[in-house]
Amino acid sequence: MKGNGEVPRIGVYVCDCGTNIAGKVRVAEVVEFARDLPGVVVAREYKYMCSDPGQDLIKRDIQEYNLNRIVVASCSPLLHEHTFRKATAEGGLNPYLVHHVNIREDVSWVHEDSDEATRKAKAIVHGAVLRVAWQKPLEPQSVPVRDSALVVGGGIAGISAALTLAEAGKQVYLVEREPTIGGHMAKFDKTFPTLDCAACILTPKMTAVKDHPNITLITYAEVEEVDGYVGNFKVKVRKKPRYVHEDRCVGCLECIEACVFKEPRFPNEFDLGLSKRKPVYIPFPQAVPPVVTIDPDTCLYLRFGKCKKTCVEACGDRNAIDFDMKPETLELEVGTIILATGFKTFDPTRTPKYGYGRFPEVYTSLEIERLVNSSGPTGGEVVMRNGQKPKRVGIIHCVGSRDKNTNPWCSKVCCMYSLKLAHLIHERSGAEVYNFYIDMRTPGKGYEEFYNRLAKEGVHLIRGRVAEVTDAPLHPEEEGKLIIRVEDTNIGVVRRIPVDMVVLAVGLEPQPDADEVRRLFNISCSTEGWFLERHPKLAPVETFTDGVFVAGACQGPKDIPETVAQAQAAAANALALMDKGSVEMEPNVARVNEELCSGCHICIGLCPYGAISFNEEKKVAEVNEVLCKGCGTCTAACPSGALSQNLFSDHEVFSEIMGVLL
Ligand SMILES: Cc1cc2nc3c(=O)[nH]c(=O)nc-3n(C[C@H](O)[C@H](O)[C@H](O)COP(=O)(O)OP(=O)(O)OC[C@H]3O[C@@H](n4cnc5c(N)ncnc54)[C@H](O)[C@@H]3O)c2cc1C
Repeated sequence: MKGNGEVPRIGVYVCDCGTNIAGKVRVAEVVEFARDLPGVVVAREYKYMCSDPGQDLIKRDIQEYNLNRIVVASCSPLLHEHTFRKATAEGGLNPYLVHHVNIREDVSWVHEDSDEATRKAKAIVHGAVLRVAWQKPLEPQSVPVRDSALVVGGGIAGISAALTLAEAGKQVYLVEREPTIGGHMAKFDKTFPTLDCAACILTPKMTAVKDHPNITLITYAEVEEVDGYVGNFKVKVRKKPRYVHEDRCVGCLECIEACVFKEPRFPNEFDLGLSKRKPVYIPFPQAVPPVVTIDPDTCLYLRFGKCKKTCVEACGDRNAIDFDMKPETLELEVGTIILATGFKTFDPTRTPKYGYGRFPEVYTSLEIERLVNSSGPTGGEVVMRNGQKPKRVGIIHCVGSRDKNTNPWCSKVCCMYSLKLAHLIHERSGAEVYNFYIDMRTPGKGYEEFYNRLAKEGVHLIRGRVAEVTDAPLHPEEEGKLIIRVEDTNIGVVRRIPVDMVVLAVGLEPQPDADEVRRLFNISCSTEGWFLERHPKLAPVETFTDGVFVAGACQGPKDIPETVAQAQAAAANALALMDKGSVEMEPNVARVNEELCSGCHICIGLCPYGAISFNEEKKVAEVNEVLCKGCGTCTAACPSGALSQNLFSDHEVFSEIMGVLL
């Protein structure tokens, strides 16, 4: 076009977006203004440009007016650039000859004043018209997509995603950093709202993962490097030494029995320290893989090189124990990635007023999940650290949630699991249970019914944020008790409720290493640290990195049904990519003008994607278009002006700026 003598014939389409844009911007005035701009042949207003009739307008005009450039002024290109490129292509034009500008998020939604908004919309459209005239037709590259997937995290999200993919015939690598898969759900006895046994629904799935011919389970391992791009990721996984060969261990547990430590002595992480384990251990009886692990920090032989090694003797001919085992690095090649790394619970020592860590009989909800679990440290009996059964228990909701001093968000599952724990504690111990809540949040199938059931079971429900938990008695009946001080907002009085045991319903937080993991996979996090989806409504499992999806509580607090639904959605998205077999790459990549390149290497060091290399023969920089993400770093830095970027040429950028400023 410009520069090649062709005369611009531009169509401009301004969207009302219902009243989203038209409620603030005087769209008809913008269209009138556009009609007089250089090269504009037709300009139109439409209620919803993204609708089929709106797109048909563009397609028809391309034919009727012989248009060779299109400008669409509507919502964010993030939402609909693709829609208008497709419509342009269907009208018979190269899809990169359309320019989409945002007069909703950038204009109507952020301006109070209609005159200001209309003036700004005109300026943006002016810039777009001047810029589009310089745009050139581009052809996207197509790259093949490998038929294999990596799933990171083996909680219920990772398990569900892996099984869905494997059932569809894809090769899946499931990487879990703990010695077993199962995540948080493996710690629960019952799940709300149905109170069905967590192990009964989870362990068959865990076993299915282990037995599935299409799943390679890699436990006690973490991803340490990710290279490549959608369809062709190269991943390095570091497997920690278990000091036990997984293929030889049959899970007979005789080595645990034979360990020189006759009694378990070290805090059992799976029971959150409520029980003890030996240096050779299995996290829980149904662990998958069902093999033991030797802890190098507590094993006498691994620490001091001195031990009778009775475990080795007990293992006998199976020879599964190997103290010389070293960390191993596995290299995988996959087409798609699903991140399912879950959450961590809030550390209640950050809210000292509730006495966690100070009073032994203050517990977290996760600790209680283990206490009420029939395979937990007390066999499901509610026995406190002092060896007694509680007669009165207080459950404090929203610990570390909906609190400006800690986390402002609602953790979504705490009201429901607190009701579940109230039921289980009462069932197991006969204790009288008090739930202290700010608001009771029970949206979900069967959830409100569960709340009503609990209310009928006689659980005391007190509305009010607890001020403190103290052991300082004011009355004789408070002697030797923990006292919960709360303003009961239903009756408007401050109450002191003496109890034997306090349970803190701790909220959900992003994993402590979420930022490192997101950098590794080149995705974004929200300000709170949850992995960020591409769009909260329209692309809830996609990320801004093509081929990388998120599932489960790593993206935000979720219950199990929502987690499983999201994991299956992520698997479906990954499947769609793999089944298509190839993917089109955005052509807005950097290019080198070999004549101008001085071979200074500056761009090579700056490229965050490792997309630029040096051609020793020609002594110039070379861009790998598949790896280039079009970030523009090299183009801005090149001292000889040899690098330019498709869709961001100097002509395009400067014309747009000029149009906006005129
Ligand atoms: C006390 C409590 C009780 C609850 N009770 C219920 C209930 O009754 N019903 C219900 O519907 N929901 C309940 N929930 C919510 C439920 O726990 C979550 O919905 C569910 O665990 C989310 O599953 P997930 O797989 O996304 O995450 P997780 O269960 O956290 O699993 C994540 C997995 O990823 C692994 N991982 C993390 N980082 C990495 C890494 N970098 N590399 C490799 N692996 C990694 C972890 O080790 C873990 O195995 C409860 C939550 C709590 C806190």
